[in-house]
Amino acid sequence: MVFVAQVKTQFAILLSAISAFCIAYTFHASELPVDYANVVIEGVMALSCLLLMFGIHGVKENRPIYRLLLLSSSLLFIGHFIDVVDEFIRSCHTLDILEDLCQSFGFLLLLLTSARWVKFHRQQNRKMKYLAETDSLTGLLNRRAFTQSAQTMLDNAEGQETPFSLILLDIDHFKLVNDNYGHLTGDHVLYSVGQTIQASLRQEDLLSRFGGEEFVILLNHTTLADAKQITERIRSAIEALRIDHKHTQLQCTASFGVACLPSSEANITALIKNADQALYQAKALGRNRWCVA
Ligand code: GH3
Ligand code: MG
Ligand code: MG
Repeated sequence: MVFVAQVKTQFAILLSAISAFCIAYTFHASELPVDYANVVIEGVMALSCLLLMFGIHGVKENRPIYRLLLLSSSLLFIGHFIDVVDEFIRSCHTLDILEDLCQSFGFLLLLLTSARWVKFHRQQNRKMKYLAETDSLTGLLNRRAFTQSAQTMLDNAEGQETPFSLILLDIDHFKLVNDNYGHLTGDHVLYSVGQTIQASLRQEDLLSRFGGEEFVILLNHTTLADAKQITERIRSAIEALRIDHKHTQLQCTASFGVACLPSSEANITALIKNADQALYQAKALGRNRWCVA
């Protein structure tokens, strides 16, 4: 019953076509011999279009594509159905024109639908890739996408001289932000910190929200001396950040671990492990500071 309700337009077209054939055959039956080879060929074509007509209910949630597919498959079905009917009734010029029009427009519409379908799929793939790689709160790369991109970046640098640096940072006493100002404000702090870090980086660097209130940055071809400078710039930018909360403003700080390895030894696991140890040290030394692995 559900299927019938979903394809009632298709049933209406099919029943109308059969009724029209019965009426035409009753009043205008042909006396010429039937070309059964043509009946079989056109019959198979009409049946294929009919299967398409009934099969498309699966894409009903995509209304524009569904409507185009329904229209094109219906026109093609009617065109080929008329070709079959033509063998059994007296020849009629109007019917020949109708058959040609249905087949030509049906085919053109089907081509147009295919182009729309390809475009729609491309957009969907882009959307899915974005959702799979992005942290929804901050809009930054998520951990999985970061690890993959970082490893690719390191692999591509094989044989080159310049080292890679990695910064791991963790917001200080973030639990207190949630406890004192609420989870929503906590989320806003995470977003603002993410934007602040991003603004301090170059296009070629990779930034990711690595977990809860932890961020990671891979600095492309960057020496330890430069990495230290960049870390200090980010640290002071976060310290200077003011986040509106009701009628006041709140402030936060972060602690950093910096690691640097030559291209030949750089792999993402080693860089993160070293930076994590340095971050632990920065926390132990009193927070709002950076340590080097
Ligand atoms: P420390 O300085 O030692 O890092 O202390 P901390 O309070 O920052 O660290 P802790 O690990 O004790 O707490 C992290 C908090 O981050 C606890 C958790 O509820 C919060 N958190 C994790 N993810 C999110 C999130 O997506 N939104 C918000 N608002 N809070 C989050
Ligand atoms: Mg923390
Ligand atoms: Mg943490």
